[in-house]
Amino acid sequence: MSVFTDPDFDGHEQVVHCHERASGLHAIIAIHSTRLGPALGGIRMYPYADEAGALNDALRLARGMSYKSALAGLPLGGGKSVILGDPRRDKTPALLHAMGEAIERLGGRYVGAEDSGTAVADLQLMAQTTAHVTGLQDKPGLDGGVRSGDPSPATALGVFTGIRAAVRHRFGREDLAGLRVAIQGVGSVGHRLAQLLHAAGATLFVSDVWAPNLERALREFGAEPVTPDRIHAAPVDVYAPCALGAVLDDVTIPQLCAAIVAGAANNQLAQARHGEALRARGVLYAPDYAINAGGIIDVCAERLGEDAAGVRARVERIGATLTAIFEQAESEGLPTQLVADRLAERRLYG
Ligand code: NAD
Repeated sequence: MSVFTDPDFDGHEQVVHCHERASGLHAIIAIHSTRLGPALGGIRMYPYADEAGALNDALRLARGMSYKSALAGLPLGGGKSVILGDPRRDKTPALLHAMGEAIERLGGRYVGAEDSGTAVADLQLMAQTTAHVTGLQDKPGLDGGVRSGDPSPATALGVFTGIRAAVRHRFGREDLAGLRVAIQGVGSVGHRLAQLLHAAGATLFVSDVWAPNLERALREFGAEPVTPDRIHAAPVDVYAPCALGAVLDDVTIPQLCAAIVAGAANNQLAQARHGEALRARGVLYAPDYAINAGGIIDVCAERLGEDAAGVRARVERIGATLTAIFEQAESEGLPTQLVADRLAERRLYG
């Protein structure tokens, strides 16, 4: 295992391996870039099979955060940390305190947030030993209520705004009434996206492997159920992946009926070449990290002290960013993902 030769190294500024004997902490903090601001990214806890897998995950995700924040115009760099361990078995207050101390030693170059395997209560424990974790406080919600650090409402609003931009670009219409949308995964983001689309008059097709979530969507939105293995091929205008990554591959792309793919899931393309496969089929793809930036915008707002109106305005700018990507991709005959990468790199590297 080597950092410099890892395929996802991509010039990371700093990669720190952290160990603390008493608590058993083994963690890796990857700082891809601090050029635009502190490297903000989630603290993931996962029972990795080996250290090389943990390192690769941290590097890949940290780089992704640099691109996402740069494209969203945020004063943030990109980072990520991973704790090697099973969150159900190995997570203790001592381990979380030790992780906080490891983050503190970086002096604010890295700022941690919630991710899979960690929750707000864990961040609150880490905050006892570091000032550099975020997403802890209750704050005004986009709907006027009070809510916790959960970024899903902002992510869903961003995806909804992105679908509007894609529909305008592809079909030349503003109105979503009667638009057919297939949502893969009606969890935290997918359910809220379904609410927004339903209120706008769209017809929904939904799929979920967790029956209570599926039934809630059928009941609340009169949605049509689709089996998980066929949702990508549903007879719709828009396919919105909101569950897993790598759903666009050699098998699914030829089966798509949708003219637009626009959803919240991270890393939707199985491989970079699948961006070109979508373009060649005439499918308009909203690059995942451009359309799902609402969550990081929301987390960043907490640091900047921005109110709900400020968050909403920034999230709604995702529509304009996507429109610029769609127009450039069309005029240059390029996959949208490539155009998004170039825009992000221009902001990251000048
Ligand atoms: P979630 O766990 O709340 O919801 C995911 C849903 O997908 C669950 O209901 C789950 O049962 C379902 N699911 C899992 N496998 C499935 C399958 N094969 N077919 C159909 N449904 C399946 O997660 P979430 O927070 O809503 O996030 C959804 C996606 O969006 C993830 O890929 C996440 O990384 C990404 N994302 C989320 C946010 C956020 O703010 N929560 C921000 C950016 C990106």
